[in-house]
Amino acid sequence: MLNVDLHSHSHVSDGVLSPADLAARAKANGVDIWALTDHDEIGGIAEARKAAAELDLRFIPGVEISITWAGKTVHIVGLNIDDSNTTLCEGLASVRGGRVRRGREMADQLEARGIAGVFEGALKLADNPEMLGRTHFARYLVQTGVCATVAEVFQNYLVEGKPGFVAHRWATLEQAVSWIRAAGGRAVIAHPGRYPLDAMQLGALIDHFRELGGEGIEVTTGSHTPDQYDQFARIARSSGMLASRGSDFHGPKESRVDLGSLPPLPAGLTPVWHDWLS
Ligand code: AMP
Ligand code: MN
Ligand code: MN
Ligand code: MN
Repeated sequence: MLNVDLHSHSHVSDGVLSPADLAARAKANGVDIWALTDHDEIGGIAEARKAAAELDLRFIPGVEISITWAGKTVHIVGLNIDDSNTTLCEGLASVRGGRVRRGREMADQLEARGIAGVFEGALKLADNPEMLGRTHFARYLVQTGVCATVAEVFQNYLVEGKPGFVAHRWATLEQAVSWIRAAGGRAVIAHPGRYPLDAMQLGALIDHFRELGGEGIEVTTGSHTPDQYDQFARIARSSGMLASRGSDFHGPKESRVDLGSLPPLPAGLTPVWHDWLS
């Protein structure tokens, strides 16, 4: 059985490793087909593609787009995209646009609670300043001893109802799916079990996504519990959606699940990569 990992992040967004180091780690971990899916940014794809080719590793260009749907942040993965497509490139640039301003507001809130210097500190940790994100803030708060781990930061800060949270309007679902399709890619709902949506809302998201031409859903992901693998396998089967598998790896000490180390997809699903193997 092929080891397929279609969700991972490099330092071009909020991962720790370079695209080339990720390719090497995927290969070393026995991955057969690997996708780089940085948040809102495809600037790492050229390096990833070259490194994967040198390692004889099958590479799928990807991206994970931040959207706002029914007032909640949701992530849509685009797979097998043409990274030279201008509609996609311009769309992603527009999504990245507001991140630095949001970062300043997040830091202002933390400063008001006596935690100073977070904007500058987080920015230093972002290799790509346009992609300044909550993970960089979290790493800085760990470095400075405010919290012990990144997970602890996300329990106490930066999330709705806690200091350092700033509501943000990302792309729309329509935009994300249309950019991915314009670039010849396949749209997949990332880690559907992670959103604060009840079953009705989740069903509505899936219906809306499919009406727009979305095709897949992540079933086995580093962001799901084993129970959720089964839950979303059932949803994929009953809705006829393609199923994806991806670690969502961000870094060696940070991510619970390493590249290529998830269990296989449950039985009876059509993998999102089913027609990419020739
Ligand atoms: P942003 O796009 O800047 O709002 O940051 C979102 C990123 O924060 C996600 O892609 C994750 O990498 C990280 N993140 C969000 N929630 C958590 C959490 N509970 N634990 C660890 N990382 C998280
Ligand atoms: Mn992330
Ligand atoms: Mn995500
Ligand atoms: Mn991700």
